[in-house]
Amino acid sequence: MAKDTIFSKIIHGEIPADIIYQDEQTTAFRDIHPQAPTHILIVPNNVIPTVNDATPENEQILGHLFVVAAKIAKQEGIAESGYRLIVNCNKDGGQEVFHLHVHLLGGRRLGPMLTRQEE
Ligand code: 5GP
Repeated sequence: MAKDTIFSKIIHGEIPADIIYQDEQTTAFRDIHPQAPTHILIVPNNVIPTVNDATPENEQILGHLFVVAAKIAKQEGIAESGYRLIVNCNKDGGQEVFHLHVHLLGGRRLGPMLTRQEE
């Protein structure tokens, strides 16, 4: 089994976070360094370190993350204006916490998906 992470500690109530949704499979809380007026992390309660570690057994929980994201977007009042879901993977993806999570960002125009990097 994958080892616990800082997000596991939040899920188990061992460190504080602004938890806005929790069920048997997933927990959602506000990002500590928000990049938009709404910036929420939707996290499976059991650790999957990265997208690379996803297996067919994880298909239900991975789908559930999107269903929860849609529910929260509605709750936050950004479903109609729109939002962005992001999952980072490993170094080039900019992943910092190795506990797969979906970022839900919205509440302002987010601009282009990627900023162009001049070589
Ligand atoms: P990643 O780069 O791994 O996709 O995103 C990790 C996110 O977790 C970052 O946006 C970071 O601000 C957030 N984060 C890291 N540590 C904590 C924490 O202890 N509490 C909360 N609420 N967010 C955290």
